[in-house]
Amino acid sequence: MAVDFIQPRTLDEALSFLREKGKRAVILGGGSDIVVRLKDRIIAPEYLLDLSKIDELHYIEKDGNFVKIGSTVTIGELLESETVKKYLPVLHEAAKVFGSPQIRNIATIGGNIGNSSPVADTMPALYVHSALLSLRKSDSEREIEVEKFQSGPGKNILEPGELIAEIRVPVAKENERGFFFKLGQRRALIIAKVSVAALFQLEGKRVERAKIALGAVAPRVISAPETEEFLRGKELCEDVMREAARICASESTPITDLRSTESYRRYMVGSLLYKGMRCLP
Ligand SMILES: Cc1cc2nc3c(=O)[nH]c(=O)nc-3n(C[C@H](O)[C@H](O)[C@H](O)COP(=O)(O)OP(=O)(O)OC[C@H]3O[C@@H](n4cnc5c(N)ncnc54)[C@H](O)[C@@H]3O)c2cc1C
Repeated sequence: MAVDFIQPRTLDEALSFLREKGKRAVILGGGSDIVVRLKDRIIAPEYLLDLSKIDELHYIEKDGNFVKIGSTVTIGELLESETVKKYLPVLHEAAKVFGSPQIRNIATIGGNIGNSSPVADTMPALYVHSALLSLRKSDSEREIEVEKFQSGPGKNILEPGELIAEIRVPVAKENERGFFFKLGQRRALIIAKVSVAALFQLEGKRVERAKIALGAVAPRVISAPETEEFLRGKELCEDVMREAARICASESTPITDLRSTESYRRYMVGSLLYKGMRCLP
């Protein structure tokens, strides 16, 4: 069956369309996930609602203590943005290792979130930056914490007729340092076997607060609350880093699949966290 391509110019137009025909439509960001699914006939929508011509969804701006990112901003634009580099260092690190230049040029942040994959690279970074998602419908708007968005592999809490409009992220504090590491089959164009994002608020070597998120080791991106609690108030010495790595590995619940085994993934969670902490202060 032929697919109708709908290309609204305003957010209102897009939301009205979704209200009327949302159940038969699929939202299109850059298409890097959707096109594969269309080609493989995993989905067969009546309409593709392309958001790429809506200027209102395309911006990166600092507003007080937040950076606001429109959902159609591409990963390449995140990578090039001085604002993201300066204020959202972990998201910037995630953009650096995302796909290839070609993929980064089309893949949007909204699409990466909307895809709701446990391996989505921006998600662990957005977790540790405590991002908020602004979700819009024709007649309502709500804001949720990014951790509450994914509900399972490929699943999320978006309601019919709703889209991701904006990602609002608190700017990192002066004494916050972070990292994003991902492990894959090869150096370029990899889908993560394991990814670890972290943002530490430090007083010298003492951890005031740690935020840690893990990708590809559970049905959705997860936080590591026990590790965060263990690290609170501790000096980042060798014993503490090793114990934190051990706890963090035990908080992951990976599976064995084509890309890796459960035990290797668990081991690498601890290993990547340890490597990141060693480079911190
Ligand atoms: C070769 C290749 C390499 C890749 N490498 C990586 C990688 O390194 N890291 C990684 O994380 N991913 C990777 N991906 C996956 C993909 O590129 C990303 O998930 C990308 O961010 C998807 O964005 P998009 O704009 O192309 O999404 P689309 O394909 O347009 O959409 C993806 C999903 O999100 C929904 N959606 C899109 N925008 C919105 C919105 N504003 N509101 C609500 N729902 C929305 C769509 O309906 C769809 O369900 C790769 C894919 C390919 C083909």
